[in-house]
Amino acid sequence: MTRILITGAAGFLGSHLAKALVSEGHEVFGIDNFSTGKPDHLAALADCPDLTFITGDISDARLLDLDELKDVQEIYHLASPASPKFYQAHPFDTISVNTNGTQNMLKLALKNLAKLVYSSTSEAYGDPLVHPQHEGYRGNVNTWGPRACYDEAKRLGEVYCFEYWRQFQVPVKVARIFNTYSAGLRNDDGRVISNFVTQALENQDITVYGDGSQTRSFCYVDDTIRGLRLMMESDRATGEIINIGNDKEYTILQVAWLVKILSASKSKITFHPLPQDDPIRRRPDIRKAKKLLGWEPEIHLEEGLRQTIAQYRQRKTRQP
Ligand code: NAD
Ligand code: UDP
Repeated sequence: MTRILITGAAGFLGSHLAKALVSEGHEVFGIDNFSTGKPDHLAALADCPDLTFITGDISDARLLDLDELKDVQEIYHLASPASPKFYQAHPFDTISVNTNGTQNMLKLALKNLAKLVYSSTSEAYGDPLVHPQHEGYRGNVNTWGPRACYDEAKRLGEVYCFEYWRQFQVPVKVARIFNTYSAGLRNDDGRVISNFVTQALENQDITVYGDGSQTRSFCYVDDTIRGLRLMMESDRATGEIINIGNDKEYTILQVAWLVKILSASKSKITFHPLPQDDPIRRRPDIRKAKKLLGWEPEIHLEEGLRQTIAQYRQRKTRQP
């Protein structure tokens, strides 16, 4: 049994990871300030003695003195808004959690001799000029745009990780996570799969931004979580940046049609202005993850969407 801390434990990825770790008998400590996470996400673990939940802001250094955290051996640092809707509404909190919050978690890792996986993002590549994106590509981020609070904060979070690795040998592992989805996303999350499936099931317009020719590569949550866990387990991932994502690329218009067809929806597909700085193309080069971790995604978008639609549908029936 390992003592494991998850920051952002009430969020989409954090709650999924918490359930997986607890089910395998680990002792899990979760911290969240419920800025985008919800208590409901952890409802299945409400009476579980192996999950200790702490409500708190990880940007606050006083957390480092909590008794509960003094023996944690592994830290998954997932706290941060991830949907453009939320990080743009709270830019300063987004900057703070990824910089001050990351440094706090690195200090904790140093104090405890713990390993740390940092959830960075494909947004570190900005609107990429290299395709597909490999870890050596340094990115094309606009520091003067609405996405910068997230993109640049994540990049600075990576710098903190690198310096704690270089100067103090804290075993850090940086995951650049690409678009991940499942029914675990809030209906009002604002990210594309959540929006399209929610809209399709209500027979409302499916809102494509721009002409829908921009691309993304979607990874089902189980695959992403397996990748993050392999990074934690593998010494080969220490001091490394690794892309975790599915390398099958789709246009957003293709995704809209796929959701409409798979949900047998009567929705119309409608077109709306493209948000500023929306990346045109995104697809991970995952050769490094394959080589170092033996990891590659297993769940095809169509299969993942079928599961996602079925679960959103069940949720809608339970909470009309
Ligand atoms: P999410 O918004 O569902 O979850 C983030 C959680 O962090 C929420 O529960 C929120 O309340 C919590 N949080 C935010 N600020 C906090 C703070 N200061 N202190 C404590 N808790 C705080 O997002 P997600 O999709 O689960 O993403 C998790 C992590 O993975 C994020 O760091 C995100 O940037 C990264 N990521 C996710 C994706 C994806 O597709 N899901 C892609 C790239 C990177
Ligand atoms: N998008 C869209 N309609 C929506 C929500 C998003 O067309 O209702 C587009 C968005 O403009 C982007 C892509 O879908 O091109 C993915 O957006 P998301 O917010 O999920 O994540 P991003 O990869 O942009 O961070």
